[in-house]
Formats: sequence, C-alpha cells, structure tokens
Amino acid sequence: MKTITCKELSGGVSPCTTPISGNTAEEVKKSLMAHGQKDHPEQIKSMTPEIQKSAMQKIDTLFA
Ligand SMILES: [Zn+2]
Repeated sequence: MKTITCKELSGGVSPCTTPISGNTAEEVKKSLMAHGQKDHPEQIKSMTPEIQKSAMQKIDTLFA
C-alpha cells in the first residue's frame, strides 16, 4: 500500500493534504476522484486537462 497526498497529485492546485492510498494505480485513481468529488468538487472542475493528465501519469509512475 502506497500513499500520496491530494496536494501532490493536484500539482499544488489543491492545498488539501488528505492522504490518498491504494494497492494499484487504478485504486488510487478511484480513491482520488471519489475524495475530490466528495470534499472539493470545485477544485476538480478547476483542474485543467493538463493537470489531470499529469496527475494520472504521476499515479501510474508511482503505483505501477
Ligand atoms: Zn483533497
């Protein structure tokens, strides 16, 4: 199980330091989206496609 914070994944867009964890990249993506939509949906909306893409790539790299 690895953990990364919401802030790291958002590229600094979100100041949220909630830890996101999972055993696989897929689990972490699901956790991140569920957390973001529940706790700060406005920030999810304000993330550009580039930021979202880099977050997904970061997850793939760290949790592959
Ligand atoms: Zn968050």
